Amino acid sequence: MTDTQMGAAPDAPRRYPCPGCGADLVFDPKGGQLKCPYCGRTEEIPQSADAVNELSYEAYLVPRPDQMHALTANALEVQCSGCGSIVTFEPPDVAGECPFCGAKIVAQPRSADPLVAPSGVLPFQHTQRQATESIKQWLGSRWFAPNALKAQARQEAIQGVYLPFWTYDSHTTSHYTGERGEHYWETETYTETNSEGKSETKTRQVQKTRWWPASGVVARWFDDVTVPATASVSRPRLDSLEPWGLDQVRPYDPRFLSGYKAQRYQVSLPEGFEIAKGMMAGAIRSDVNSDIGGDEQRIHNIATSYSGITFKHLLMPVWLTAYRYHDKVYQVMVNARTGEVQGDRPYSFWKIFFTVLLGIAILLLIYAAAQGQSH
Ligand SMILES: [Zn+2]
Ligand SMILES: [Zn+2]
Repeated sequence: MTDTQMGAAPDAPRRYPCPGCGADLVFDPKGGQLKCPYCGRTEEIPQSADAVNELSYEAYLVPRPDQMHALTANALEVQCSGCGSIVTFEPPDVAGECPFCGAKIVAQPRSADPLVAPSGVLPFQHTQRQATESIKQWLGSRWFAPNALKAQARQEAIQGVYLPFWTYDSHTTSHYTGERGEHYWETETYTETNSEGKSETKTRQVQKTRWWPASGVVARWFDDVTVPATASVSRPRLDSLEPWGLDQVRPYDPRFLSGYKAQRYQVSLPEGFEIAKGMMAGAIRSDVNSDIGGDEQRIHNIATSYSGITFKHLLMPVWLTAYRYHDKVYQVMVNARTGEVQGDRPYSFWKIFFTVLLGIAILLLIYAAAQGQSH
């Protein structure tokens, strides 16, 4: 598949031409700057004095057209027919294979739809080569992984993708009703049959709980509750890629995306906030429990109101490879900040089968040898 077939509009103005040779500068994780892959010229991305903007949740619930922007000036977007992910890329990069499911992307790319622009980005820090090494090492310790997976540890098969996340800040006020349990001891009488077969009356101390109605208000401020806005990678897997190091987030600059793909958010801003509420609930419950006090607590109801909600749309970097094995999609990914590897590892049935068979054969040989000696 050629670039023109992929619709990388040939007349589109190049955004970051190399002043030396005119090729496209791409973001270099090593130097944290733009670099020409041909002549090696580099260009700094100026440190922005701006803070990473928190935006008002209310104002973006139904975003106005002027609040929506394309990810980069020349961004193209294409939807994978295999898994439905929408991948954004910047020419001269091409759609190629879907980083999430490994399918060849055949749809025509088009200009990227505007979206709620990212406030911040965590730039790539690990290079493709480092990621390939990390994946090789990870696979090396997994002998039962099928060869199809090992073949994925080629550098070309590993793609750099920015995954979308929402982070929410919110003030919460929670009215609760419940009960406070206080322990007390009671003397209980019971009968026991002694060794002579006679029943004896004895007493013992038993712990009981007396319950009192309880109600009140607790308040808590949440900062940067982080919710993945991708549906193409499983939540537990993303959770285990943490920590991302949110304190390192840079104000969004499209130059960080040069040479990388980015995924369009699949979880909307309000959907993401519903997930965030679930994540806040645990902390609120433990606040309520300590507010109720006593030895035990029962919670009947918590009504939480959220105020002063702000959010950020952040892009986090991963190196990702996906492949199909027995009609299932498997992903292996590397946190491009920390180098941590997470992935699916199917076990090869045949590798296990032959290992077991070999084990049995060796046992039979040993047995036969022992039999031979005893005669
Ligand atoms: Zn150059
Ligand atoms: Zn796909």
